[in-house]
Amino acid sequence: MLTEQQIRQALDGRILVITGAGISADSGIPTFRGKEGYWRKLDPMKLATPEAFRANPQLVWEWYLYRRKIVSEARPNAGHEVIATLSHTAREFLLVTQNVDDLHERAGARSNRMVKIHGDLFLNRCFNASCAEEKREIVSEGVLPKCRRCSSLLHPGVVWFGESLDPATIQQVDEFLSNGPCDLVLVIGTTAQFGYIVHWALRAAGHSGTIMEINPDDTGLSSVVHLGIRERASAALPRIFKI
Ligand code: NAD
Repeated sequence: MLTEQQIRQALDGRILVITGAGISADSGIPTFRGKEGYWRKLDPMKLATPEAFRANPQLVWEWYLYRRKIVSEARPNAGHEVIATLSHTAREFLLVTQNVDDLHERAGARSNRMVKIHGDLFLNRCFNASCAEEKREIVSEGVLPKCRRCSSLLHPGVVWFGESLDPATIQQVDEFLSNGPCDLVLVIGTTAQFGYIVHWALRAAGHSGTIMEINPDDTGLSSVVHLGIRERASAALPRIFKI
């Protein structure tokens, strides 16, 4: 466990927080791969790929409207709130979230210290890559939304399987990491299946930083972290940071 002195040092220094679906699980939003995760019952290739959208845009939109509803009805939990507080109080801070929900924002996380690397569930983006118009507009059930500029179909503004991350978001992470090693790297509620997540955590810690993982289960990163907290994020974070 971190001592109070280590926590103070981290707050006076640099903190990288990486979150995944597990931080929002305590708000009632299912994860993907976890025990109650969506991919236990549904096939991601039929719902979360550009090919799936081309084949059946109606089905894909139904799935995303269903998820928008679940997220809209959920509220940030104590874990989101601690991270939001850290985003304001730490001297240097970046939150990299893989989540497409808006619970970090609604908890009050500082927007210029946060990167949503897998996109935003509530954005609509034009499927025509050369247009790529983005808008935040309500989509009604049964309606296939179209781009006002080029009339192509709009799709939910998330990064699907087989798609590349937005270079601008990668650059934001890269700039933060280039400014030097972090005192504390918190990896919360992610299976850490993506190579870039593992890479960013290790690069951020360098030779001197502490990597703390908060997750009830082991992950791809567990064998290399310095502190593994096998607990739910909404319980562990307020206890550790006394916020
Ligand atoms: P994942 O579904 O692969 O894994 C979830 C992880 O959270 C598991 O390791 C699980 O043990 C852990 N977990 C479960 N409950 C927890 C809790 N209470 N506290 C802490 N950890 C807990 O999720 P991932 O690694 O984020 O990757 C999957 C992809 O899923 C991401 O790209 C993300 O965009 C997307 N996703 C997002 C949301 C969301 O926005 N809320 C929900 C589902 C999936």
